[in-house]
Parts: sequence; structure tokens; C-alpha cells
Amino acid sequence: MATAIPDYIKKRYAFGDLTSSLSLLRMVDERGQVTQAQVVEALGISQGSCSVHFRKLEHAGLIRRMDCVPTGRRGRSTVVWELDSERNYCLLLLFSAPKLYASLVDFSGKTVLERREKVADIPDREILESRIELFMEEALGHAKQTGGHVRQAFVGMPGILDPHTGVVVSSETFPAFNGMDFKAFMQRQGLPCRLLGLGFYHGEIRHLPPDTHAFILDWNFGVGAVAGVGERVISQTNKDSMLSQAGHVIIVRDGRPCHCGKKGCLEAYAGGWAMIETLGDGNVRNVEDFCDAVLGGNEKALEIAKEAAFTLGKALTWSLQVMQSKRLVVSGPLSRIFPLVRGEFIEGLSTIFTEARIAELDPVPSKDPFAAMQYGSYRCARRQFFYPDE
Ligand SMILES: [Zn+2]
Repeated sequence: MATAIPDYIKKRYAFGDLTSSLSLLRMVDERGQVTQAQVVEALGISQGSCSVHFRKLEHAGLIRRMDCVPTGRRGRSTVVWELDSERNYCLLLLFSAPKLYASLVDFSGKTVLERREKVADIPDREILESRIELFMEEALGHAKQTGGHVRQAFVGMPGILDPHTGVVVSSETFPAFNGMDFKAFMQRQGLPCRLLGLGFYHGEIRHLPPDTHAFILDWNFGVGAVAGVGERVISQTNKDSMLSQAGHVIIVRDGRPCHCGKKGCLEAYAGGWAMIETLGDGNVRNVEDFCDAVLGGNEKALEIAKEAAFTLGKALTWSLQVMQSKRLVVSGPLSRIFPLVRGEFIEGLSTIFTEARIAELDPVPSKDPFAAMQYGSYRCARRQFFYPDE
């Protein structure tokens, strides 16, 4: 048990601010278990300040003392510290039309709370916000019950987001959120928040060998892509990066109008919304419906999907070359139909690539796009907490 710490000590050593203790916390996380002597040696700090950092992190509920290991001739014991993984959490809000998938995941990666709710048809922002607040209350309540803390929030929202402020510029599938500032919203609950669309990347690469040059496609309502080498994303380093806008690369001059205002974008041919529009069936309103139609034997839907897959394969060859990608995984909700249109996708690739190159890429659908998104988002949120300046 942590011992009580007098107020004057807390004040003197700024117990409310953990910034200076983060490198020690990272070391505990990376090594699993550490002793004070190991930290003193690795970080080159004094015994005294090391001890203060441990006390601060323990007081904040981030680390805990393990069994003491007797060392030395006189049986003097050494305290071993570890991360308190079960009592620290990330809150994830993942929007994938028509649903919101809300979950609370602890630092060991275990989902302890999960809610799914259909929200795409709710036109009123205030009602939407109150639904989210309800889940947040439940999540914060759960954390409190276990004596723990929610440390970081992560919002995954399809659409165009301002990379600097995190404000939702435009979301086609959740239009009620246009203009929504999730960071400010979470801040009101005292939660730092990350808003990024990279969750699926980190979720998919864990099924590939370490350090693979990977290209992960998000085949969704729109079309997105992220390339990287293992854990390191390389396509998003430049804010104007072509890949973050993969769906809005123009492939036909004066072609079909796109939601972004331009004409002839890739998305207008191969994105979920374009396929849904082309199908023109009132019962098929989102990508889940479209997948169900294709898998349920709707021939027109399958034809549309095949044509889109060919266009996609052909259009991606250039990005795959620039990123020097060695493996390709099709993620996102439309990956469910990829096995039925893989032949056409490969035909598209073969307009530029040799058979050997295609065999190396070996395009495969995600094993479980939702699980990938959830796990990857958790990884992003957790990393944001340990490395807030990245
Ligand atoms: Zn566009």
C-alpha cells in the first residue's frame, strides 16, 4: 500500500505535474518491472530524485509496488515496481456508420466496458453529445470504482479533420458532428484527447512480421491509406501528404463530382459512397448495407464492387511505388467483400506491376477490421499518454 504523503511534500515536489516523471514511467512500462537501482543507473539521476519520482507515480496510481525481493547477505529487501495496468484506462470513441463504438480499455489492452449504439441518424448535436456524455460518465464511474483513472481519450471519426485543432471539418457519415471540437469537449471532462484516423494502421500491422514495409488501405465510405515501416508511420509526416488524401487523387479529368468539391477523384469511383450511389437502392444506405448486398448475392452490387476494385488497384500502384511498400492489407468495413473482388483488384495492379511484385504484395483483406481499428486506436491512445509531445 502507498503510504500517506504530507501536503507540504506534495507541494514542494509538484505532485500534480507528472511531466518530469514520464521518462521513468516509460522505463517501467518498457521493462515490465524495475528497481530503483536500475533506474538510477539507466537514467543517471540521484537516488533521492528517483525516489521522489517513484512516490509521485505511485501516488498518482500509475505504478505499484510488487513483492519485495530479498537481496544481500543480511536479507535486505528491494522494492520492485510495475505499471498498474488494470487501474489505468483509455476511453475510445470510434465512429463507423451507422454506429458509435464506445469502449474503455485498460493499459494491459483488456476491454472492460463496451457499448454500441446507432447514432448516424441523430441529426441533433446536443442529443449526440449527451449520448457520449452518458458513456463517459459510465466509464469514469467504472474507473473510480476500481480506484483507477481514465488517462487518455481517442476519437476515431471518418471524414476530414483539421490536423492542428482536431476540429471535424467535414464528416459525410456523421454530418451532425461538422464543426465539433472533440478535444475541447473531452477537456471539459479533464481528459486529454487524440483525434486521428490512423487506428486501423496500428491494428493491422500486428498481424505482419515486425518492420514490414506495409501499406494499409482503409476501404470505407471514402478511401484512405497509411504506409509505414512496422510501428513507424511514414506517409503522414507531411501534412499535405498524398496518402492521407488518397481518396481525393484525381484519376479522371473532369470526371464524376466528388464530395470534396473537385471532379474525378478516386473516391468518386471506388469509395463506398460512390458505389452506394451507383447502386441506387434505397435500402442500401451505408457500407454495411452495401457489404450485405454483395455477400447476399446482389449481382448489380457485385459488378459495381468489381469495377471499383479494379480502379482502386490501378490507382494505388503509384503510391505503392513511392512508399516502397512490400505488403498490402485491405482494411475498413468494405474489406469484408474484398475476397470476392480480389481478382479485379489484382488486374488493376497488373496494369503497372509484374506478377512477381504482386505476389510479394500479396493483397489480403483484414482478419477483422473492427478489432484492428479498436486495438490500433488503443495503441495510439496509450502511446499518446506516455509520449504526449509526439
Ligand atoms: Zn474528392
